[in-house]
Amino acid sequence: MSVLSLHIEESTPVEAFLPHGLLAIILLGPPGVGKGTQAGRLSAAYNIPTISTGEILRAEMEAGTPLGLDIQETMTSGNLVSDNIVCEIVQNRIVKQDCAKGFILDGFPRTLAQGHILQEFLRANGIKLRVVISFDAEEDELVRRVLERAAKNPEKKRAEDTEEILRDRLAIFYRETAPLIDFYGQQHLLLKIDGMKTEDIITAEIKDFLDKVIPFK
Ligand code: ADP
Repeated sequence: MSVLSLHIEESTPVEAFLPHGLLAIILLGPPGVGKGTQAGRLSAAYNIPTISTGEILRAEMEAGTPLGLDIQETMTSGNLVSDNIVCEIVQNRIVKQDCAKGFILDGFPRTLAQGHILQEFLRANGIKLRVVISFDAEEDELVRRVLERAAKNPEKKRAEDTEEILRDRLAIFYRETAPLIDFYGQQHLLLKIDGMKTEDIITAEIKDFLDKVIPFK
């Protein structure tokens, strides 16, 4: 089955719809850095879905599915769910029709192993990554933001939103996920964003970049 069953208008150059025309974006960064906010804005601006592995996994937990029950302890202790599980979830999601023009990956890949599996999957499907946006910010600011978000929205507070677990999650990020920054840097795919800047400035910087590389809108 083709990932790319697009409606092609007569006047549109066919090249515009070749796989390399897909707007495939990865957002990389620690908890609290603002990836989710930017993902929402970019999804709306470019009309492509965001695939958030965290959200998908939380939905499984809330629905009490066998998978949800299986991952509950891992998630609530702030640890990473197994590469096999998340890779399967993402691969099943990317082949859906609404990803035909592109997609934003938020929270995936999170380990080098996931990065390699994703790379092979994209290659096999003729999908070329457009950019990996790497966010960073000072650790104390990240902790402050996540705890403030949890305090302001008690309905969204997660079991893992305690300072202790958060510090663990940050350590996991720098140990397991940060190596992906070099991995994509070597492929010249990286756009580095200072997560200490305001949300609006960050959105403007990303759009500025994307509008230069984007093959079609
Ligand atoms: P946040 O946005 O707060 O950084 P997420 O919502 O992306 O966190 O993820 C929450 C939890 O879901 C993670 O702590 C982890 O347990 C699990 N998870 C999400 N994505 C992945 C992934 N790619 N690999 C392994 N575990 C993941």
